[in-house]
Amino acid sequence: MPAEPADPSQTDQPIEPIDALRRIAFLMERTRGQTRRIEAFRKAAATVVRTGRDELARRAEAGTLTELPAIGKSTATVITQALAGRRPDYLLDLERSGAAGPLVDGGERLAARLRGDLHSHSNWSDGGSPIEEMVATAMELGREYLALTDHSRGLRVANGLSEERLVRQLGVVDAINGHLQGQGFTLLRGIEVDILDDGSLDQEPELLERLDVVVASVHSKLRSPADVMTARMLGAVRNPRTNVLGHCTGRLVEGGRGTRPPSSFDARAVFEACAEHDVAVEINSRPERCDPPDELITLALETGCLFSIDTDSHAPGQLDFLAYGAARAQRLGVPAERIVTTWERDRLLEWAAQRP
Ligand SMILES: [Zn+2]
Ligand SMILES: [Zn+2]
Repeated sequence: MPAEPADPSQTDQPIEPIDALRRIAFLMERTRGQTRRIEAFRKAAATVVRTGRDELARRAEAGTLTELPAIGKSTATVITQALAGRRPDYLLDLERSGAAGPLVDGGERLAARLRGDLHSHSNWSDGGSPIEEMVATAMELGREYLALTDHSRGLRVANGLSEERLVRQLGVVDAINGHLQGQGFTLLRGIEVDILDDGSLDQEPELLERLDVVVASVHSKLRSPADVMTARMLGAVRNPRTNVLGHCTGRLVEGGRGTRPPSSFDARAVFEACAEHDVAVEINSRPERCDPPDELITLALETGCLFSIDTDSHAPGQLDFLAYGAARAQRLGVPAERIVTTWERDRLLEWAAQRP
């Protein structure tokens, strides 16, 4: 009988070169390491996938790994050490530095109940990784479902998807699900659709109708007067295609993009509409967003809203950010039952398919 494959997260175990490169990238992504460094490991992993193990071994022996595309000195060392049956130093250093440890104190009870994530991006829009890599990591993290929600056409800076590209992407999603049958995981057909100035959604209604999950978010004119912003958000929430109201205040509390205050709007009116139209208020787990702020989560809770704890991942390792959202929701007393991402897939899909 073949031996069980070694678990790449077991730190005393040898590891395959591809697993080592992917795990290094994952750990750096979840702990918000330098993008350029992470990219080097992701690109090296892509090269390793395309290269036979024999060729890798031959090149490691001859010292010519760096002649392969996207393999540099550090990644060649990782590959060489892994091939020699050692856990690479680079990985060990990361693991010893705590990169694999808990991201946040608290929220563990709720985090354990989260089954999925309704907000993620691939390299089809402004994410950094192919859909397949997002899926592989979501499965490794034990998720039962992940919604692929690349940006809509109007968000050009984020390479938003035209109608045609979205239709093409749906084919890819179907194909991936076809391969994954019986494995307890579903990639949901989704979109993060822009809420336009007039409150309409930036994609054809017939196309939105074909999706499992629609996250609607504001990405422009965040400083509009409160009455304008309220009307715009109400338009989106009342749209029967909308399932989740994404990062509702648009604030940024830290990080490379700087900070940004929350938008002004009548939160009570917006949340009342969410409750009435069965739209979940997103608890966006990204540390730099931390959106909505505590007082608005509390208000949404009082108003009777459902919630969706999402990562808004732009890289596979960020799929682990759910821990941040779970910690906030648990601290603020949001019951698990009110969080749609604790629901089983079929219940979630049934809820999302209701178009009142
Ligand atoms: Zn967004
Ligand atoms: Zn997003």
